[in-house]
Amino acid sequence: MINGVVQRTFGYGVCADCGVAVQRFLLDRQVHACDPKRYAAHQARKLHWRRAGFEDAFAGWLGTRAGRFAQFYARRLLAAGQPGDEMA
Ligand SMILES: [Zn+2]
Repeated sequence: MINGVVQRTFGYGVCADCGVAVQRFLLDRQVHACDPKRYAAHQARKLHWRRAGFEDAFAGWLGTRAGRFAQFYARRLLAAGQPGDEMA
C-alpha cells in the first residue's frame, strides 16, 4: 500500500511518482515513463495533502474500528484473488 492506495488491483498498479494507473507488467519491468505534467501535479497534490495533515488523520483513522475493518476487508479481498491475474 502506497499512500493508502492498494497496489496491484485488477492487473494494474499505481505509479508512486505520478499517481497514474499502469498495467502491472509495465510497472514490474520499470518501463513506465511518467508524463512530466502529471508528475508535477501529483507531487504538488501529495505535498498539499501532507501539509493539510491528511496522512496523520488517515493513520489515526486506520487505528479506529472502521479503519481496522477496512484493512481487514482489503486484505481479505486481495487474499481471495485478484481479478485480472489470469490475464497477466
Ligand atoms: Zn508514473
